[in-house]
Amino acid sequence: MITVLTVGCTAQEAGQEMTTQTPVVQKTEKEWKAILTDEQYRVTREAGTERAFSGAYWDNKKKGEYYCVCCGEHLFSSETKFDSGTGWPSFYSCSDGVGERTDDSHGMRRTEVYCNNCNAHLGHVFSDGPEPTGLRYCINSAALNFEAKKK
Ligand SMILES: [Zn+2]
Repeated sequence: MITVLTVGCTAQEAGQEMTTQTPVVQKTEKEWKAILTDEQYRVTREAGTERAFSGAYWDNKKKGEYYCVCCGEHLFSSETKFDSGTGWPSFYSCSDGVGERTDDSHGMRRTEVYCNNCNAHLGHVFSDGPEPTGLRYCINSAALNFEAKKK
């Protein structure tokens, strides 16, 4: 079920600061748990990281598109996927559905990438990727759904 935001900001009335863009798709913890596996929930809703070489897509070389496992937003394409050797699916570019924000957890300054549409944690972006962007989007398979290109 998709929660539609009503006019009039209830969060502001409750005294909360609205500093970030409100995601389009919002669900409660219980609603997310009902549609995600434990691993998908841990990664996307609790900013977890799957074990390297454990996910479904790090070695996926098929042509197709990658979508948010939570809401179906288009995030990445096999066109920009490359073999980073890290054990996580890696891309040098992303779609407009991917947002970026600073992440200071674990004593490191990194740039977290998340789904603009539902706020799912996807992974991180680093600046040691290949040309043409020089970026490396290091993404958890558990945050993605892959759809192979139809011939
Ligand atoms: Zn999403």
